[in-house]
Amino acid sequence: MSDNCIRVLGARERNLKNIDVVISKKEITVFTGVSGSGKSSLVFDTIAAESQRQLNETYTSFIRHRMPHYGKPDVDTIENLSVAFIINQKRLGGNARSTVGTVTDIYSLLRLLFSRIGTPFVGYSDVFSFNNLAGMCSQCQGLGKVETIDIERLLDKNKSLNEGAVCFPTFEPGGWRLTRYIHSGFFDNDKKIKDYSEAELEMLLYADGIKVKNPSPEWHKTSLYEGLIPRIERSFLKKEEREKTRYSKQIERFVTKQTCSHCNGTRLNDKVLSCKVNGKNIAECAEMQVSELLEFIETIHTPVSATIVSELANRLQQMVSIGLGYLSLNRKTSTLSGGESQRIKMVCQLGSSLTDLTYIFDEPSIGLHPHDISKINDLMKLLRDKGNTVLIVEHDPDLIKIADHIIDMGPSAGIYGGEIVYQGDLQGLKESGTLTGKYLSHQPEYKLNTRTPKGWLSIENATLHNLKNISVQIPKGVMTVVTGVAGSGKSTLINQVLPQFYPKTVFIDQKGIQASKRSNIATFMGIFDRIRKLFAKKNGVSASLFSFNSQGACPVCKGLGVTYTDLAFMDTIVTVCEECQGDRFTDEVLQYKLRGKNISEVLKMTVAEALEFFQEKEISRVLNMLSDVGITYIPLGQPLNTLSGGELQRIKLASELENDGQIYVLDEPSTGLHMADIKQLIGVMNRLVEQNSTLIVIEHNLDIICQADWIIDLGPFAGQNGGEIIFTGLPEDLVKCRHSLTGSYLKEYIG
Ligand code: ADP
Ligand code: ADP
Ligand code: ZN
Ligand code: ZN
Repeated sequence: MSDNCIRVLGARERNLKNIDVVISKKEITVFTGVSGSGKSSLVFDTIAAESQRQLNETYTSFIRHRMPHYGKPDVDTIENLSVAFIINQKRLGGNARSTVGTVTDIYSLLRLLFSRIGTPFVGYSDVFSFNNLAGMCSQCQGLGKVETIDIERLLDKNKSLNEGAVCFPTFEPGGWRLTRYIHSGFFDNDKKIKDYSEAELEMLLYADGIKVKNPSPEWHKTSLYEGLIPRIERSFLKKEEREKTRYSKQIERFVTKQTCSHCNGTRLNDKVLSCKVNGKNIAECAEMQVSELLEFIETIHTPVSATIVSELANRLQQMVSIGLGYLSLNRKTSTLSGGESQRIKMVCQLGSSLTDLTYIFDEPSIGLHPHDISKINDLMKLLRDKGNTVLIVEHDPDLIKIADHIIDMGPSAGIYGGEIVYQGDLQGLKESGTLTGKYLSHQPEYKLNTRTPKGWLSIENATLHNLKNISVQIPKGVMTVVTGVAGSGKSTLINQVLPQFYPKTVFIDQKGIQASKRSNIATFMGIFDRIRKLFAKKNGVSASLFSFNSQGACPVCKGLGVTYTDLAFMDTIVTVCEECQGDRFTDEVLQYKLRGKNISEVLKMTVAEALEFFQEKEISRVLNMLSDVGITYIPLGQPLNTLSGGELQRIKLASELENDGQIYVLDEPSTGLHMADIKQLIGVMNRLVEQNSTLIVIEHNLDIICQADWIIDLGPFAGQNGGEIIFTGLPEDLVKCRHSLTGSYLKEYIG
């Protein structure tokens, strides 16, 4: 048997129908299919999961015994698996010290460069790190920002100390923190703060280390008085403490963050900043756009640094190639979008010289304009040519094109999917007659009757991030699509500037819904209460018995059906609850039935099955809303945190279907959607518009662009070379706009 193929035999995870798959190594294989067809079940839950499990087997038994047992995916065998890396859109997050430069290690190369050829010479490369004591600005401890307490919010000046003038959490009257102030003997405890003299206020807020004359019992440990500000700073504002304290969210209200005036936000101390290469210090380099930094680095010709310079140029070039040339190295990773995070992860991998790995990509086209996709394609090929196997789950036709092999899943979603309906090359797929094949050969069409605006929303003089003082009008009561290459300023304009003008804007994004572990479609859409009542009435028991928070729920998993184990160094592990085997409720509760089904069985029904089961009007009305957005194949009890971003977004859309007159913003709703799903999505979006709402959609998908009533195109390029309005008007006029990259793509595809 040849070992140049990964063989998956008898895969049955989730909806997979006992399928066999052969994947050639050192090739690019793209997995296609409508959403819910089983692509992730095969690629992530079977192949990647097994690779992860086998890797864990290699740990010593000491470590293994301390880890929960990784469930073996439901598959007979997988042969020839190599170590798999998953590159998904999970945001990088990271703490305040994590930047594009630090996570990609490009900043360490820059530090090395400065330590070798910077003048004056200040020390080893470590000194150039803002995470190192010798290099960081002492004022802000290398954070670039300082936090100050907002006195106006801290004190309610119309109250006295006894009345609770200190609004900060844990300083309530009667609590030990405030009591110390009240018993200090320094204040008239019934005097309102607004009547305090300068000196009294100074004493209350800032005094530090003053001896209390007649300390009461509260002062037994120390008799040194400390004003509110140093007190709060000491216990709450030091970063390390902050992450841990359970008040961190409440505290945000009391602090304002300002750029550190000492280092001007560069995070570094004067000594480090004085060291220059070709007239620039390291902070100036980290602040430049990567594309500009690359040009700058290429001007350095010192023999001692030749190797570092060429490696640095190489890594920066990779960032430019992947379409991230508009970022700067000092950009905090926590501010990156999902697509940007994913591409940064790619850059990290490209720096590695390991071969024979399996790279698994989850929709790498996200956030990318067709213009940027060609760059991603080159990088995929680079990874393959280095001797790696590349697996991609993708819907974008431009990305599908680079596949050496395509595996199309279907025929449809959920129980109607889980099979391989085609495999082979692109031409064959187009002729195969599968849903993907059909859509790949279709052409987007312009909307025939565009709707007339019912007024305009205006944004004036926007300058945030890269926006070049732009003013723009957005039509009301129609659907506007905002286009432009990644980094051109679309999200800045729509997600950040628009709500400053129109605070009531509703954002329907793909982000998780709060507390989602416990919530599922039934709870989120508000029908679970009704279902519980039906069970209660039928069986003459209390409805609360069927609640996840009640005595009726499985005591081990508390009604989740699964248990979660957090591991410090890996993703959280989810295992089926051993007590209830995933049934979520106690045996007593499971004997109560409604039309032959118990509550656990009802939660396992898909929306489509539930639509047949429930005749109750209020319940079927809601189920129909879900089915209208294409959510037919998901079980009612599937926790929201296991749904894809695209599915979550559609569920949020469904919950809006009965509101009218709103301003909605959708950021790349096509994410995770097959071309067939997109058609359905367009239908839902039109329904919202017909209900008198204004829809603003950030999109790259040509089908959606063509269906717009109005287009706003940003550009011409990314970062500092973007931020301008290139075009506003009807989609069919965009094609005529010479300077628009979007226009030229429309022309190429539709003519
Ligand atoms: P795709 O990746 O093609 O969109 P998936 O493999 O994610 O499809 O889903 C296949 C089926 O498995 C769908 O019906 C989906 O709802 C279901 N599914 C996915 N994740 C879970 C989960 N964590 N628990 C239960 N069912 C799931
Ligand atoms: P798009 O949505 O078109 O991809 P963005 O609005 O995200 O573009 O980005 C436009 C520019 O603003 C880019 O140069 C980007 O790096 C910058 N930018 C976006 N968000 C932030 C942020 N939180 N901090 C600093 N710069 C940002
Ligand atoms: Zn500073
Ligand atoms: Zn349980």
